[in-house]
Amino acid sequence: MLIALPNMDGSFTCTLFFPFKGEHSFEKLDTKEKATNFFKEIFPDVIPLMPTLENDFFDNPTGSLMTVRCFPWSWNNQLMLIGDAAHAIVPFYGQGMNCGFEDCVELNDLINKFDHNWSEIMPAFEKVANLTAMPLPIWH
Ligand SMILES: Cc1cc2nc3c(=O)[nH]c(=O)nc-3n(C[C@H](O)[C@H](O)[C@H](O)COP(=O)(O)OP(=O)(O)OC[C@H]3O[C@@H](n4cnc5c(N)ncnc54)[C@H](O)[C@@H]3O)c2cc1C
Repeated sequence: MLIALPNMDGSFTCTLFFPFKGEHSFEKLDTKEKATNFFKEIFPDVIPLMPTLENDFFDNPTGSLMTVRCFPWSWNNQLMLIGDAAHAIVPFYGQGMNCGFEDCVELNDLINKFDHNWSEIMPAFEKVANLTAMPLPIWH
């Protein structure tokens, strides 16, 4: 899958979701010619929109997608993880931002409930939000 996310300057940042290894993978696209041929075959309509495709493809990093599951989310009632830092989800589920907003709602409720007492808020938050933010199982 090839996606293009808009930038503030009017350009787009394209991301190709593709296996690292295997018959159809990044590992096989190891020359500019192979990369260009791949895009010509699979995504022909983007070629005219990406005049620096060959260089962009090799100059930019190849990263991993991941789902983060961790606990605890707080330390010593002084520091706490919320949002993706606590529970990043691979983008295909379209849930990460929603879970982050849900964290804010839960946290706000607990701040009111415990009247800004962080030694009560933090343990309560990581328990309730950890349950609501658990992503669907995914296998890598
Ligand atoms: C391609 C893609 C598509 C997605 N589509 C969806 C979707 O359709 N629906 C949905 O709900 N979610 C979607 N998500 C997920 C969503 O974007 C994230 O879950 C959400 O942005 C997480 O928000 P956050 O504030 O927790 O973290 P982030 O948005 O990552 O914010 C963290 C901020 O901290 C800054 N930062 C990092 N380190 C430091 C440091 N040391 N000092 C100071 N600042 C620092 C970063 O620059 C960043 O601005 C998508 C994600 C991706 C990548």
